[in-house]
Amino acid sequence: MLDETLKTQLKGYLENLREPIELVATLNDVKASGDLETLLGDIAQLSDKVSWRRAEGAEADDRVPSFTILRGGAETGLRFAGIPLGHEFTSLVLALLHSGGHPPKVAPEVLEQVKGLSGEFHFETYFSLSCQNCPDVVQALNVMAVFNPGVSHVAIDGGLFPDEVETRKVMAVPSVYLNGAPFAQGRMELEQILAKIDTGAADRAAEAIDAKEPFDMLIVGGGPAGAAAAVYAARKGIRTGVASERFGGQVLDTMAIENFISVPHTEGPALAAALESHVRDY
Ligand SMILES: Cc1cc2nc3c(=O)[nH]c(=O)nc-3n(C[C@H](O)[C@H](O)[C@H](O)COP(=O)(O)OP(=O)(O)OC[C@H]3O[C@@H](n4cnc5c(N)ncnc54)[C@H](O)[C@@H]3O)c2cc1C
Repeated sequence: MLDETLKTQLKGYLENLREPIELVATLNDVKASGDLETLLGDIAQLSDKVSWRRAEGAEADDRVPSFTILRGGAETGLRFAGIPLGHEFTSLVLALLHSGGHPPKVAPEVLEQVKGLSGEFHFETYFSLSCQNCPDVVQALNVMAVFNPGVSHVAIDGGLFPDEVETRKVMAVPSVYLNGAPFAQGRMELEQILAKIDTGAADRAAEAIDAKEPFDMLIVGGGPAGAAAAVYAARKGIRTGVASERFGGQVLDTMAIENFISVPHTEGPALAAALESHVRDY
């Protein structure tokens, strides 16, 4: 399933695993199951911290083919229904790493918010392998599942489960369901998902901001202009705050960027992450 280049890359990533993980697959005799079996076998060969096996008895899932990830023999709460290649390959790699103890690139306060969520949240996301907006949603919900035992997430390749797509009238991807009811469609960041389900979050955020020393300058919006203004002001010793739902602005909705002089090629999410990291340095 994986060519030699991907295997080499994945082998390198899997060296970041801190704890062993086990991939448990529900398979049958259709071709997609055979493909998933080959993929899981390929992955398990790349690291002695990864193993795979078939689900037994009650472990078997209704969605076939699918697999879940166990750490220390316990479910992490995330499952892929289908074969996460194409645009979802990164989601697969991150799911393996985060399940195996590698820390996610998420702001510490956001991770605390994920861990502090109370309640039972079962998310289901329909994606397609060619969807560019799907990985952010799948990855955000996977992080929530790994870090909060009350959250579970199934990422479903709609192409392999057409009956569900038909029954639920899924018109676009990503389409997210929460506890069986429609929750959201389209690209969403982890912070936006949290804001939708964590009803006390706004009050807690307001309290946290109230507790800070006053800012000399408050910048509204975290796009490139806001990030540049923040860096300039902070470098001059001005106490600067940024009020922003997400960092990156329109850049987050962009893929290839080829006119950022001195950088021949970059992509929106990478540039947005670099903007955020530069601002956070101050
Ligand atoms: C699909 C696409 C492709 C693009 N490709 C390129 C390209 O290849 N090269 C290029 O040079 N440019 C490109 N652009 C344009 C580029 O992204 C924008 O010019 C740039 O992002 C503008 O930066 P900005 O900081 O001024 O505004 P924005 O990026 O729009 O950021 C403003 C931010 O402020 C937030 N905001 C607004 N009001 C408030 C409020 N009241 N409170 C809190 N937050 C608020 C917004 O939500 C947003 O996040 C592209 C844009 C799009 C959409």
